[in-house]
Amino acid sequence: MNIEQIYKDAGALLSGHFLLSSGKHSPNYLQSAKVLEDPRVAEKLAVALAEMILSAGVKCDLVCAPALGGVLAGYELARALGARSIFAERANGEMTLRRGFTIKSGEKVIICEDIITTGGSAMEAAKVVEAAGGNVAAFAALANRGVCVRSGAQGLRGLQGTQGSQETRGSQGSQEIYGSRGLDGSRGLSGELDTSRNSHGEACKLPFDKPFFALADFDFPIYDPDSCPLCAASKPVKPGSRGN
Ligand SMILES: [Zn+2]
Repeated sequence: MNIEQIYKDAGALLSGHFLLSSGKHSPNYLQSAKVLEDPRVAEKLAVALAEMILSAGVKCDLVCAPALGGVLAGYELARALGARSIFAERANGEMTLRRGFTIKSGEKVIICEDIITTGGSAMEAAKVVEAAGGNVAAFAALANRGVCVRSGAQGLRGLQGTQGSQETRGSQGSQEIYGSRGLDGSRGLSGELDTSRNSHGEACKLPFDKPFFALADFDFPIYDPDSCPLCAASKPVKPGSRGN
């Protein structure tokens, strides 16, 4: 499955000057909502993601997505995994569970996003899940914007257009780390998620001790706002993400 081609075909791979929800700027934007417009495509992507997760031995009772971006991907992933689907959303800037959503103590939860850049929103959702008694088993996204390093991608490393990106980002050791810890999310509540020794990458906010699954890696340039070369010519636009 060529994820880049699926985004291109849907007109969802945008070029310009964009403000990402992480606060960083980029000349490229993945508008997942355009891809997920077609439920059959959404289903196909979610099934592929679910297969990666299941083949890694990760168990899941519940998928939780940070709203709004992750909701459709999370819902389809939950369907493919036979799990429940909920979402966390911001109220007065704080990520929270509303709408009567509850998590049973010890439930194994996958945090699902459409796109993960630094994983900031996913981490906020993960903290809400753990505070509610859930056990975050893994992080998942349709696509990885390239700051984080995938660690649960066994079997799909040869995806067309994505080969090699793992190695160039220094992911050495992550397979062994997760392999030795077990991927079934059965370690019980860890309290604080461990981000102190982050093997995913320097700017990545995902925790050291949880696997991260994505269908593809995209290596677009990402700039800090104060060193973005595109800012000299234009203001970045926000094509429908946090705050819109
Ligand atoms: Zn800029």
